[in-house]
Amino acid sequence: MSIVLYNQRIEVPGTASWLDSEADVLAVTRGKTKSIKQSREGYNRDPATFWIRGLVTHTTSGTVTRLNDKSIIESAKDWVYAKYGTNVDDKSWTLTKDLDESAIQTSDPGRIGTWHAGQVNNVTDGWELVQTEDGTLTKTQLDGYVRLCDEWSYHCGIPRVIAWRNGAPYMGMLTRALSAHGAGASLCLFYGHCNIWTAQKSTGRLVATRGKGDPSELPFLALRHAGYVCLDVEKGEDLEMWKDLQAEFKLDADGIPGPQTRAAMIKAGRYGAGGMLVARPGDESRGMPAWVSARSGVGRFSLGL
Ligand SMILES: [Zn+2]
Repeated sequence: MSIVLYNQRIEVPGTASWLDSEADVLAVTRGKTKSIKQSREGYNRDPATFWIRGLVTHTTSGTVTRLNDKSIIESAKDWVYAKYGTNVDDKSWTLTKDLDESAIQTSDPGRIGTWHAGQVNNVTDGWELVQTEDGTLTKTQLDGYVRLCDEWSYHCGIPRVIAWRNGAPYMGMLTRALSAHGAGASLCLFYGHCNIWTAQKSTGRLVATRGKGDPSELPFLALRHAGYVCLDVEKGEDLEMWKDLQAEFKLDADGIPGPQTRAAMIKAGRYGAGGMLVARPGDESRGMPAWVSARSGVGRFSLGL
């Protein structure tokens, strides 16, 4: 049972990808299918140079209101949505997390950029959380979501940061997601579809592309509980933090933690094996981050270890 990031296959319980055996896929999909089809829906990325800045979480209907009373709901809907995502023409995402333990990955975000959130597609990856018809998510689902975020942050180099304000997840517009403000190029964190607004072509008026139920506060509360760093990103607290760190590393202090900043964090040794801002269980045995291996392979990048 595996995920695939930057061409690297990584064992993760409960998760099926196109590289998994029939037995594993049957187990994850509750007998629905023997193989996961890899989706080509999206555009090519060069794993040796491309870096994923942010991860955008979605919910399947965008109407999540609360946590379900049951901590787990048995479901094969991840397979239903993953199949739909592979066949539909104008939208795509890389991972579908079900209401139970399972998740299905249909493309490698280090190689394919998916069409999930308009102007930020070029710099992000996107996931779907399966929700119930009455707009709930489950505790088991969110636990698994956090563990997958841990893998993605480590192997894709996405900082363990979430947008926060006044003691709660920030659900409003992130100005830096707008096309006129960089289209997400400076948003290096885990955020939600609700944070992505657009300017109406005719009037220039700013409108939310999705409501607060896409994906709701729940995924971010789970990430906060796991120790992810809560910053008022809309106010620019993340930029200040990165500028300070970059200055300390004698790097160009632009506030955007690109590959050089991340490599400096790995080398500094203070941030664990993957150069993460906060440690998570499993980091110590994850080895070389997949994004670093993808770069090292072509000699264009070296950690100098
Ligand atoms: Zn969405």
